[in-house]
Amino acid sequence: MIEYICPECGAKVNVLCLTSLPPIYRYKCSKCSYEYEEKSNITQKVIAPIPMMTLTKHDEFTVYY
Ligand SMILES: [Zn+2]
Repeated sequence: MIEYICPECGAKVNVLCLTSLPPIYRYKCSKCSYEYEEKSNITQKVIAPIPMMTLTKHDEFTVYY
């Protein structure tokens, strides 16, 4: 997770994703009037599940998928 900080006052910036084509990210400061818009591309990402490591008896590791 990324937390965006306002370059003007250092407060947290709210990120809004406008689902237009191409998508637009609108960054809006929660404190001052700073606003910034950025055009973005659609990226498709396949989720790679990380196997869960669970500690069992006698320091054995069991991998669950
Ligand atoms: Zn600000």
